[in-house]
Amino acid sequence: MPADIRPTLSLVVPVYNEEDNLRPLAKAIREALEPLGVTYELILTDDGSKDKSWEIMKELAAADPRVRVQRFAYNCGETAASEAGMRAARGQYIVTLDADLQNDPRDLPKFLEALKHYDVVCGTRVAVRGKGDNFIRVASSRIANWVRNKLSEENISDAGCTYRAFKRECVDKVKLYRGMHRFLPTLFKMEGYTVTEIPVSNNPRFAGQSKYGVWNRLFKSFHDLLAVRWMKKRVLNYKIAERVN
Ligand code: UDP
Ligand code: MG
Repeated sequence: MPADIRPTLSLVVPVYNEEDNLRPLAKAIREALEPLGVTYELILTDDGSKDKSWEIMKELAAADPRVRVQRFAYNCGETAASEAGMRAARGQYIVTLDADLQNDPRDLPKFLEALKHYDVVCGTRVAVRGKGDNFIRVASSRIANWVRNKLSEENISDAGCTYRAFKRECVDKVKLYRGMHRFLPTLFKMEGYTVTEIPVSNNPRFAGQSKYGVWNRLFKSFHDLLAVRWMKKRVLNYKIAERVN
C-alpha cells in the first residue's frame, strides 16, 4: 500500500516465538476483512524471536504489501513491541491483538460498529471465560482484574484482554512503560477519551505457548498497578474559563 494512503484499520500485533501462528493469523484477518471491503494494514513486530517468526514475517510481507513487518534487535517485551507497531501505524483506527489467534478477527465488525460511538473499544472475555483458557489462567486473570479495579478505582472488566481498537491519535497522548499494555484503557480515560467494552470470543491458543505464568500475570503487574494508581490521583485536570491576549 503506498505510504500516503490511509487504510481504515491498522492491526498491530506483537510477536515473540509465534512461527506456527503467523500464516493462519494473516489468513484469518484477510478472510474477515476482505468481504467487508474494509482496508487494512497488518503490522507485525518481531520481539526478538528465536524461532522462524522473522523469516515467515518477511515472506508474508513479500506476498502482500498490506503486511508490514519490523524486528527488534532483542526481546524487549510485549508493551514495547506493541508500541513500536502503534507508532508505525497509518490507519484511521488501531486494533491491537495477539499473534496466537486467541483473539478472533471475526469480532472486528463489532469493534468497527462501537468505534462509531467511542474513541476506545476494549474487548472483554468475561462472558466466555473458561472457553479457550485453563482454570489457572481464568482464576489469575479474575483476581488480577478485581485487584486492579479496586486499587485504581477502575471498572474495566478484563484489563488483561489486549484485543482493543481505538482512534490512532489516542496513542499520541499516552506514554507507555513496560507492562503498561494492561492499563492502556485507564491511560486513555485519563486523557479524556471515551472508553467502552464489548464482549469478544476467546479461542484456545492456536500453536506455541503462552509467554506468561501466574508470576508475571499477577505479581509483576502489581507494581505497575501502584504506578497507575498514583498517576490517576495526580492527573492534571483543568478547564480554562477565560483568557485575555
Ligand atoms: N509477546 C511479545 N513479547 C514478549 C511476550 C509476548 O511480543 O516478551 C507477544 C506474544 O507473541 C503474543 C502477545 O504478546 O502475540 C501476548 O502474549 P501471550 O499470548 O503469550 O500472552 P497471554 O495471551 O497468554 O496472556
Ligand atoms: Mg495470547
